[in-house]
Amino acid sequence: MIDALPTHGIPADQVLAELRGLRQADLPTHGGKLFAYVYDPAVPGLDELAHSAYALSAHVNGLDPTAFPSLLATENALVAAAGRVLGAGPDTAAPDVVGSVTSGGTESLILAVKAARDAHPEITSPRLVIPVTAHAAFAKAAHYLGVELDLVEVDPVTFRPSPAAMAAAITIDTVLIACSAPSYAHGVIDPVEEIAAIALEEGIRCHVDACFGGWVLPYLRRIGVEVPAFDFSVPGVTSISVDLHKYAYCPKGVSVLLHRDASLRAPQYFAYADWPGYTMVNPVISSTRSGGPIAAAFATLRHIGDDGYLSLAAQTQSAVRGLAAAVTATPGLRLLAPADYSVVCLTSDDPELDLFVLADELGARGWHTQPQLPFGDIPASIHLTVTASVAPQVEAFGPALADAAKTARALGPVQLPEGMVSMIGAMTPDLLTPDMIAGLAEQFGLGDGAGAPRMAMVNTVLSVAPRRLRERLLAEFVSFLQRPSW
Ligand SMILES: *Cc1c(COP(=O)(O)O)cnc(C)c1O
Repeated sequence: MIDALPTHGIPADQVLAELRGLRQADLPTHGGKLFAYVYDPAVPGLDELAHSAYALSAHVNGLDPTAFPSLLATENALVAAAGRVLGAGPDTAAPDVVGSVTSGGTESLILAVKAARDAHPEITSPRLVIPVTAHAAFAKAAHYLGVELDLVEVDPVTFRPSPAAMAAAITIDTVLIACSAPSYAHGVIDPVEEIAAIALEEGIRCHVDACFGGWVLPYLRRIGVEVPAFDFSVPGVTSISVDLHKYAYCPKGVSVLLHRDASLRAPQYFAYADWPGYTMVNPVISSTRSGGPIAAAFATLRHIGDDGYLSLAAQTQSAVRGLAAAVTATPGLRLLAPADYSVVCLTSDDPELDLFVLADELGARGWHTQPQLPFGDIPASIHLTVTASVAPQVEAFGPALADAAKTARALGPVQLPEGMVSMIGAMTPDLLTPDMIAGLAEQFGLGDGAGAPRMAMVNTVLSVAPRRLRERLLAEFVSFLQRPSW
C-alpha cells in the first residue's frame, strides 16, 4: 500500500521516483492517442514552461487580489485574452465585457447559473432552460443552487434543439437559457443566434457554453472553416464560458466565465461581513485558490500566442478530416454527427459490429476513445476529442480502426447472460448494496489497478439499466474505489 505519511520522511528523488512509478498505470496524456480527458498541443518545451510557471505561483493565494497583485494582473490578462478570442473588447459590439477565472467548466457554469438566479431574488422557484445535449454540469449547477431544470429535446439527426422548442420552455420563472458551442457529446453548435434573440425578447439571460470549443472555433473560422456566430457579436448573449484547460492547452484547473457587463456579473460575487474575521469577498466558489494554474495558463497563452493557436487549429482540423475519413472508409461505421470542428463522433450501422467491443479493441491497440451510451433516439457512439497532437498519428489510425473493427466483428456483439436484462430492469437504486457493488467490481475486473479492463460488458449493462439505476451504480462504484489505503 502507498503511505502518504511515513514515520520518517523520504528523500525528494525517491518520492518523485515513486510518483513516476504510479503514473505508469495512467492513460498516456501525451502522444495523440487518448481522445478524452486531455488536450495536448505537442508543442516542444511547453510542459516545462507551464511547470515552471506553476511552481513560481503555486503558493500564491487568490483569496485576496490586493495581497498578490501578480495574480490579479495575470487573471485580468487571461480574461482580456478570452474576451478578445470571443468577440469582446474595445472597438467591438461588447466593449464592457468582464470576467472571472475559475477552476474549470463546471465552476464557470455553476457561477453563470448563480449569477442568473441571484439577479432575481423575487423569483422564488427559478428555472433554467437547456437542450438535453447541454453539459451535465448545468444539471449539477441547478441541483446545487436549487434551480429547476427544463430540458429541451433535440432533433435526433442534427442534435440541435429547435429555437421554437427552447422558446416554448421559457416560463415566468426562467432566469437563464443556455446552449452549447459546441456540445461535448457530438461537437455540434446550437442555434445560438436564434436562442439569444429569444432571450433578448423575453428579457432573460442567455449563456453560451463554449467551455469545450471556445478556444478552437474562432481559430477554425480564421483558417476558413464555416463557424456560425456564437460569441459576444451575437446580440442577447449575456455570458460565455471557455475552458483554458481544453483547447487553450493549459494545465488543468483554469476556465474563464465572461459576462457582457459588470452589472450582469455583480450577483455572481459572494460577500460576507457577519463574522469577526476578515470580510470575505469571493468572485468564485473557492476562497483560497492557488496561483499555480493561473500562472501556468498565462505562460501557456503567451508562449503559444495567437499565431500558435492558429496553426494548432489547422493541425486539429487536418487530424479531424483524417479521422473522419478513416471512419467513413470502414464498413459498418459512419459519422453520427458531421465532424465539422474538433470532434469525431462515430456509430455503427451493423448489428454485428458492437461499438463497445470496438472501443475495447481500439484500447487494446493503444487508442483510447470514449464510448457514449445510447440515449433516447440517439444510438450508442464513440466520441473522439481531437487535439493538435493527433495530427501525426492520423495515418496509423485508419489501419488500427479497420483492424479493430475486423476483430470486433469476429468477436460479435456483447451477449448479456440469461436473465440479466430482466434482472437489471427489475432492480431499483435502493436495492443496491455496497457488497453487490464490490462483487460486480470484482467480477468485471474493475478498480484493481491491473490495466484497462474490457469495458464492453459493463457498457452494455449500463445501457440497459434505467438512468436512475445507472447513476446510483456508478456513484456506488466510485465510492467503492474511494476508500482510504490504511
Ligand atoms: C468540459 C465541459 C464542461 C465542464 O468542464 P470541466 O472543466 O470538466 O468542469 C462544460 N461544458 C462543456 C461543453 C464541456 O465540454
